[in-house]
Amino acid sequence: MNDSNNDELLSALGKRLVSGSLTDDELLRTTGESPAFAILPEANVIKIGGQSIIDRGRKAVFPVLDEVVEALPHHQMIIGTGAGTRARHAYSMGIELGVPTGVLSVLGTFVSMQNARMPHYLLAKHGIPFIEPVQFPQLPLYLAERRAAIFFGMPPYTFWHRNPSVGRIPPHRTDTGSYLISEVFGTRSMIYVKDEDGLYTADPKKDKGAKFIPKISAQELLAQDFNDVVVERPVLEFMIDAQHRRSIQIVNGLKPGNLRRALDGEHVGTIIHAD
Ligand code: ADP
Ligand code: MG
Repeated sequence: MNDSNNDELLSALGKRLVSGSLTDDELLRTTGESPAFAILPEANVIKIGGQSIIDRGRKAVFPVLDEVVEALPHHQMIIGTGAGTRARHAYSMGIELGVPTGVLSVLGTFVSMQNARMPHYLLAKHGIPFIEPVQFPQLPLYLAERRAAIFFGMPPYTFWHRNPSVGRIPPHRTDTGSYLISEVFGTRSMIYVKDEDGLYTADPKKDKGAKFIPKISAQELLAQDFNDVVVERPVLEFMIDAQHRRSIQIVNGLKPGNLRRALDGEHVGTIIHAD
């Protein structure tokens, strides 16, 4: 493209991007000036825990699905599923056999897919579809027509998964995949349905003295450097750079009514927010 074409066709940003380098920090700063718009601002992303909810079977799963069905007239829901215990078994086998992180990510993806298929068939009579990543372009129609859709929570990187800084488990799993859907579509909320009331100062299953934290910033939580946390740590890191999803909520799905209260905008459980 010659200079006269550039002058006619391109905005100031266009000219700089076309002729500049995408590794130039100063140029990259200018690309953040126009705000990103929220694609699905009415939708809520809900992640149903793998180990914390689905692996517990019908006594934990049915009440959560009942709440989803009750909420259908009131809320749009994009429902992601965790992978849980079967993925951990697959990871342990893969690690012992020496497979790399990218292959462990493939294994985890299929387990979170199994966990999406079961609730999907249970909710099928309500017209709620299961969607794979390739079907996300149809999501707006499904939400408008049926008000909910189910997807598997793993980000579909498969082999392209980055290595963790420690060990070999894929660092971006179903908490992260669900979060990223919420961020990119600019949804109304990101609600994690797990088996504890929210975040504590330590894993409450291991430390009876752990204290409940109703609200904390992601920056503060990362700085606290707790030995373990209730949500995958990359979610906290991603929140800091978020354009849209600057808070997440973690609720106890074993207590009836919590999901609905969170959907209605109540502060149940823990809210983690970016400063
Ligand atoms: P999911 O089933 O959604 O994948 P996980 O089992 O990975 O959920 O994470 C939830 C679990 O995290 C809780 O059951 C709890 O035992 C554990 N956990 C670890 N550290 C904490 C903490 N600081 N606060 C609350 N829960 C914690
Ligand atoms: Mg987990």
